[in-house]
Amino acid sequence: MRRIIKIGTSSTLDKAGHINHHRLGIITRGVTQLIEDGDSLALVTSGAVGLGSTLTTGPRSVLAAVGQVALAEAYRTALFPLSVAQLLIDQSHVGESSPAMALQATIHHIWNNHGVPIINENDALSGAGTRIGDNDTLAALVAGLIGADQLVILSDVDGLYTDNPVTNPGATRIGAIPKVGLEHLEQFGTGDPGPWGSGGIVSKIRAAHLAQGFGIETLLAAGHDDTVWDNLREKRYHNFTRFAGAEEASSSC
Ligand code: GLU
Repeated sequence: MRRIIKIGTSSTLDKAGHINHHRLGIITRGVTQLIEDGDSLALVTSGAVGLGSTLTTGPRSVLAAVGQVALAEAYRTALFPLSVAQLLIDQSHVGESSPAMALQATIHHIWNNHGVPIINENDALSGAGTRIGDNDTLAALVAGLIGADQLVILSDVDGLYTDNPVTNPGATRIGAIPKVGLEHLEQFGTGDPGPWGSGGIVSKIRAAHLAQGFGIETLLAAGHDDTVWDNLREKRYHNFTRFAGAEEASSSC
């Protein structure tokens, strides 16, 4: 199974902005087991900007440039002996451009060699017109580009709720969403991407909408839930919100 797994800043870093080695260990053990089971995985991982802020000062581009080196090194160490390949991309690498074809070919070569692509936006160099903007969208675009079977978004929330669960304790998690509509986005608020992230719940719904357009299902799960990896291995999705890959009904979220 080809899976694109998006790992948010809240999973890679602790609150102070340092690598969360405990969490990264659980993530990389899960990744290794899925690969041993026969999956091809690409990780779209955030955290460069936050990590960079603990190592240097300067504009976001500089924080990203410095933080990305340390982020990739943390994955390389944690995933050893698997080979980790870093791909930093921008808007030119998605769609039907020749950089996009190069990205597609490179990911397939890495998979043929049993490697793990670690993908992030090229925040150091992308700007107006070239920036994708958030890694949920980036992950959905990469999933479409390489014809993934599934997009998995690991976040600080374990799914999509009927209302904002932080402000409304009565909100309940929605298990399955057959058709991902954008018309009710405001219902879920903007969400909180945290101090260094760019997403929030809205970008996750948009990503699921994009993925559905490619015929790819999206799972939204909590990055801090240790059972996520066994559930992915067993294809047990009861703890997640599952957005269908193809429209299954006329109702929308
Ligand atoms: N690319 C950013 C980073 O590595 C994160 C973007 C996002 O949170 O979506 O810090």
